[in-house]
Amino acid sequence: MAADRQPKKVLRLVLGDQLDAHHSWFTQVDQNVLYVIAELVQEQRYVQHHIQKTVAFFLAMERFADRLELEGHRVHHYNLDQTAQFLSLTEFLAHCVQAHEIDRVEYQLPDEYRLRQQLASWQPARVEVKAVESEHFYLTEQGLKKQFKAGSAHRLEPFYRKMRQSFNVLMKDGSPVGGQWNFDKHNQKALPKTVVIPAPFLFQNSALTIQARLDRHGIKTLGQIGSHLIWPVDEVQAEALLADFCLRLLPNFGRYQDAMTSRGWSLFHSRLSFALNSKILSPKRVVDAAVAAFEQVDSSVGCAEVEGFVRQILGWREFVRGIYWANMPDYAERNVLNAEMDLPSFYWTGDTRMACLKQAIDQSLEHGYAHHIQRLMITGNFALMLGVDPKQVDAWYLGIYVDAIEWVEMPNTRGMSQFADGGLVASKPYISSGKYIQRMSDHCRTCAYDVTARTGEMACPYNVLYWDFLDRHRARFGPNPRMRLMMNHYEKIPVLERDQIRSAAQTLRQQLA
Ligand code: FAD
Ligand code: SF4
Repeated sequence: MAADRQPKKVLRLVLGDQLDAHHSWFTQVDQNVLYVIAELVQEQRYVQHHIQKTVAFFLAMERFADRLELEGHRVHHYNLDQTAQFLSLTEFLAHCVQAHEIDRVEYQLPDEYRLRQQLASWQPARVEVKAVESEHFYLTEQGLKKQFKAGSAHRLEPFYRKMRQSFNVLMKDGSPVGGQWNFDKHNQKALPKTVVIPAPFLFQNSALTIQARLDRHGIKTLGQIGSHLIWPVDEVQAEALLADFCLRLLPNFGRYQDAMTSRGWSLFHSRLSFALNSKILSPKRVVDAAVAAFEQVDSSVGCAEVEGFVRQILGWREFVRGIYWANMPDYAERNVLNAEMDLPSFYWTGDTRMACLKQAIDQSLEHGYAHHIQRLMITGNFALMLGVDPKQVDAWYLGIYVDAIEWVEMPNTRGMSQFADGGLVASKPYISSGKYIQRMSDHCRTCAYDVTARTGEMACPYNVLYWDFLDRHRARFGPNPRMRLMMNHYEKIPVLERDQIRSAAQTLRQQLA
């Protein structure tokens, strides 16, 4: 009888991307609850990560464990030295259950299909297992299911409007603030030479101990790191980055969000994606801070700027999560354009004479970061038009960016960028010739290639691949009304020149194979 009255011993698993100190789990201190946070080999092996991504997650996990302990919780933080013998998360959990005489294991639903499946299929003997919501997103698991259907095309705009209304963001008397839902047309400007780009606010988190640990365990990473990590790894740092963004960058965010330049690597972007995706910051916290900056008396933040920013988080971020969960696991196999080429080796080195690609890849290797238009219209656009196998494109994006977690990476890559999902995310492929890159950047001025040429040895490869893409896929995209203008231009190209473009594209593919 007495033994039955003993309180149950509970283990609560905190995954590396669940570092939300405001989760309802932590509202009460209970000494029968043990929080477990662990560096695991399995999470380092499913893809090769950028060194800054791994260090950022490991440092953030350490800081989170310290914080919980300070708040009075019982916490066990395991590092690789203590977990290297466990090949899987569930093997490790089974060990913890035994070592700490646990009666019940609780976990927050992972956002990644792979991990959710792994935990759902774990059935340890004599131990209860319970899953709870992460409480991170605007939409609950149920809310998400109601809005997204497997295999159906969804579009951002109606979803985003509904989200603005449901969560009462930038709304006044039932109408959108500023009289418009979307200020995209006011945005999308190139960066004039006279605009000074503020220096990015960087942190100085010591990275050496974790690097030594990764070396000790033979963990292979990519990219570079100095002795310090520049990314925020706890809530105090993330809040400081958010405050700096609202003060110095948000006033120009929307206007220049699509601009590219060799003068800087993050321009007016927030660089909050790691803090958001590790759940150190909630999307609501970030959106509320941006809206508050806009609503201040004499604010320097315009309506188009704040709307452009809110759309990314309340709109796109929640939207791609819906696409991912409605369509997994099939989504990971989609390749409607039958793209089969290998990813060119320069994606891993930056060794290319194409100035736009060089900038995007070099800064990705150096910082684990490129902004949205670089990901979509430089690296993504090139891979799409070349015809690279989307699995390889996914692996590159999932590895190289500090913010890359499959639920957000895959719909952006396979869907928006590679059109491999056949249009579930986007109504047409995001392709462009060099003309767009010339308009939105200063790269073409210093490039070895000629952005005005579509044939000839020095023709910009984006031009060659663009017309070749329209040629190869005209049966599929010809009837698409959103592609009509592009197709009309293509049809005006003389037949002889089309042959030259085809053969130039073929040569380029052979050179890059
Ligand atoms: P900002 O430009 O300051 O935007 C603010 C926030 O909005 C971001 O932090 C992010 O949370 C959100 N956001 C913006 N665009 C998107 C989008 N399309 N989808 C989801 N959220 C968005 N984002 C990731 O977080 N992880 C990824 O792995 C990822 N992979 C991508 C792959 C491709 C091919 C493309 C085209 C985009 C990808 N994105 C990804 C979306 C976007 O590029 C990044 O969120 C953004 O560049 C992060 O930088 P930032 O924090 O400075 O963003
Ligand atoms: Fe890129 Fe072409 Fe411009 Fe060179 S010329 S920077 S390859 S778009």
